[in-house]
Amino acid sequence: LLDIPYSRILVLGLARSGSAAARLLLANGKQVRVNDVSANEDDVMVEDLKKMGAEIVVGSHPLFVLDNMELIVKNPGIPYDNPLLVEAQKRDIPIITEIELAGQLAEGSIIGITGSNGKTTTTTLVNDMLLKSAQSVKVAGNIGVVAAEVAQTLTEDENLVLELSSFQLAGIQKFRPKIAILLNIFEAHLDYHKTMDNYQEAKFNIFKNQSNDDYLVYNADDSTIVEAVKKARSNKVPFSVTNKLENGVWSNGESIYFRDEKIIDLEEIVLVGEHNLANILAAIAAAKLSGATNEGIREVLTSFTGVKHRLQFVTTINRRLFYNDSKATNILATQKALSSFEQPTILLAGGLDRGNEFTDLLPYVKHVKAMVVFGETAAKLKTLGEAAKIDSIILADDVQHAVEEAYAISNANDVILLSPACASWDQYRTFEERGDMFIQAVHTLV
Ligand code: ADP
Repeated sequence: LLDIPYSRILVLGLARSGSAAARLLLANGKQVRVNDVSANEDDVMVEDLKKMGAEIVVGSHPLFVLDNMELIVKNPGIPYDNPLLVEAQKRDIPIITEIELAGQLAEGSIIGITGSNGKTTTTTLVNDMLLKSAQSVKVAGNIGVVAAEVAQTLTEDENLVLELSSFQLAGIQKFRPKIAILLNIFEAHLDYHKTMDNYQEAKFNIFKNQSNDDYLVYNADDSTIVEAVKKARSNKVPFSVTNKLENGVWSNGESIYFRDEKIIDLEEIVLVGEHNLANILAAIAAAKLSGATNEGIREVLTSFTGVKHRLQFVTTINRRLFYNDSKATNILATQKALSSFEQPTILLAGGLDRGNEFTDLLPYVKHVKAMVVFGETAAKLKTLGEAAKIDSIILADDVQHAVEEAYAISNANDVILLSPACASWDQYRTFEERGDMFIQAVHTLV
């Protein structure tokens, strides 16, 4: 099954993808050594792997674990400047991630999706569009499902939609998706990749093995991407939120077209935000190339309210529209959210204080008629609101209280938006928990 020319393999980092990779390699007759700093000898998972024949080294990353090894399958989260990996690179031991294994195991067609932002949304859209078109499809990767595990169950006529991070793509050799989507490239993860070049190279890995049998769906509005894809051998399918594209997917501000064919009017689409329009165009391209029907695509776009916590439409109560954008843990994300609405908006924001100011939000609060602020940054956000001459700025104890306060001062047709511009850890364990509190509070208003 697994066609890799190595027999002694080190699996670095157990977590979920690591233990799946180890099991897979063992099942394919490979000699496997597993190394993890935080796992214990008596973890059930570790014991299981030992029973299957793996050699286990836990507690630290001693250099001897590299001895005799021909290949390393590492957890995507472990950076390349980890001393063990530095030594491995000196010894010329190839380093891959579990995505490479997934690519070799998958019998059907892989649709790989990457970009700095929008991966989960686009992955979800493609998956849903294929499902609604009665296609056989599975979803995995960075979205939270181990790719190699799903890949081994894939049959020839099935599609595998894979969300791919730059960390995962940094570790591929021959991985070659039938359809690749390249959404956008912003500066990100430089602590891991060290330079912007390394980061871009990892992202561009998504098409490096493609041939002219494969498709590359790319963002024609992103000059870095346009330049990079010139060297791709793939069939190129551009998308643009503004320009007509003979061979691509585009919007003229009223409708979306795939080549010359009209797919849908923008006013029928539930998902808000210019950034989501880009995700939608990319998803339509991949779905059409995989045989999705226009009816299937339309069914998704007229009902999909967004991925949870990402500018997700929650509900309407007495003609107030509630949106949960708890994933907006920085200013950039909140700028995006605010740019998505033209209606009067009540902004709920605040959270962990990282020491930054919020002045970069100023140009974006044009439609904000009131702010309800909470958490460690409440005072700073209040200062921002005053600078923006927002009439009503209310201090709240937490998200639940903020929802009540916002509703009390709202009018019909207002947008009530949770887009905190801050991490949640001062009051909530995760942004998901914060978003769930918001949803719950909204539903208890009625
Ligand atoms: P990812 O999986 O890449 O983190 P998500 O789909 O989860 O992306 O979206 C996360 C956030 O990124 C959104 O809430 C939004 O603020 C921003 N975003 C999404 N899509 C785009 C895009 N195409 N361009 C720019 N920003 C985007």
